[in-house]
Amino acid sequence: MNNIVMAVNAGSSTIKFQLFEMPSEQVVAKGLIDKIGKQDAVFSITYGEGKKFSLEEPISDYKSAIENLLTSLTELGVVSDLGEIIGVGHRVAHGGERFSQATVVTEEVLQEIVAQTELAPLHNPANVTGIKTVMNTLPDVCNVAVFDTAFHQTMKPEYYLYAIPYELYQKYGVRRYGFHGTSHAYVAELCAEELGKPLSDLKVISCHLGSGASICAIDSGESVNTSMGFTPLAGLMMGTRCGDIDPSISGYLQDKLNTDSSQVQEIYNKESGLLGISQLSNDCREIELAMESGNLQAQLALDMFVERIRHFIGSYMVQMGGLDALIFTGGIGENSRTVRSKVTAGLSRLGIEMDDERNKANDTLIHSDTSKVSVLVLNTNEELMIAREVYQKL
Ligand code: ADP
Repeated sequence: MNNIVMAVNAGSSTIKFQLFEMPSEQVVAKGLIDKIGKQDAVFSITYGEGKKFSLEEPISDYKSAIENLLTSLTELGVVSDLGEIIGVGHRVAHGGERFSQATVVTEEVLQEIVAQTELAPLHNPANVTGIKTVMNTLPDVCNVAVFDTAFHQTMKPEYYLYAIPYELYQKYGVRRYGFHGTSHAYVAELCAEELGKPLSDLKVISCHLGSGASICAIDSGESVNTSMGFTPLAGLMMGTRCGDIDPSISGYLQDKLNTDSSQVQEIYNKESGLLGISQLSNDCREIELAMESGNLQAQLALDMFVERIRHFIGSYMVQMGGLDALIFTGGIGENSRTVRSKVTAGLSRLGIEMDDERNKANDTLIHSDTSKVSVLVLNTNEELMIAREVYQKL
């Protein structure tokens, strides 16, 4: 019997999953259930030696999606018996202050995750349904919740508090939590491996630049500060999210647009960022193409995106008192030579020097031979990190 661990990442209308044989970490299968709740939902999976299967059929909710997934695993012969799955790791968006590490799910833990839903109303409910369904369908399997916020629980109050009345933190938990923790933790470990140094000796800045984007200062393997805040709307400019803005703008816009706060939040979350400024697209590739053909709004969007990243890098270098390694990850960080080159331009006095050829070649180490700071391009793998957390608990 194989020791298979499944990582489940339930988003707002999708479930990404991956099955690993442990401890070899070999990928047994991976796939996506897309458009959950719609008539044209799609289940797709790759498994075995490059086999693929996909099916478009209505999937009403998360419960049916997970049930379909488990049935398909045996029907396709990915596993001969669901008993081969020894553990399931669930990405959970928000663990609040309660969870500072991955946690084996019991009934009590599940209730505590439900209690954090107020802090992440868009994401935690999907995560909870995923966990409940697996608990019901595979009652003997160990379920582990892996929280996006957990890695950042090492932040000190001077970094996680907002300068609003302290009792609002005490009563309502208003503070910076930070997200993308699994990704930042994973690439920091990978960075130490690549550099052949213990993580405990390194000051690292991890730039996770995808549709959502955040930066994290990591000293000796611990999160010191991170750009996302109470919600994933804060910090960097993102695909459609505005990142940090003056809080007074909200009330002003409500008056001007004669609307309510939820409508303004909608603008901040869905109509801002690269899309809002470029008036073209939230997709960095399209922005870069438009820029090359002289589109000035696209140029402005990319310049703003880059400058905000530089703002945080500078800030975190000071807060950590130096820097050993700068990591680029996420769809943009892993692929955009232009963004990496612009972010690191003119920083040689701070010890950061990019090698243009290595950057163009998309090498793992892209700094020059004389750079004091190592600059790395690393592929994030949140699912593998989740599987490792599960295996550790087992
Ligand atoms: P998510 O946060 O949804 O997981 P990803 O990490 O997949 O997102 O990142 C998506 C972003 O990566 C998009 O803005 C996309 O344009 C960008 N991207 C992917 N490939 C490239 C590329 N070759 N050049 C520039 N940007 C890219």
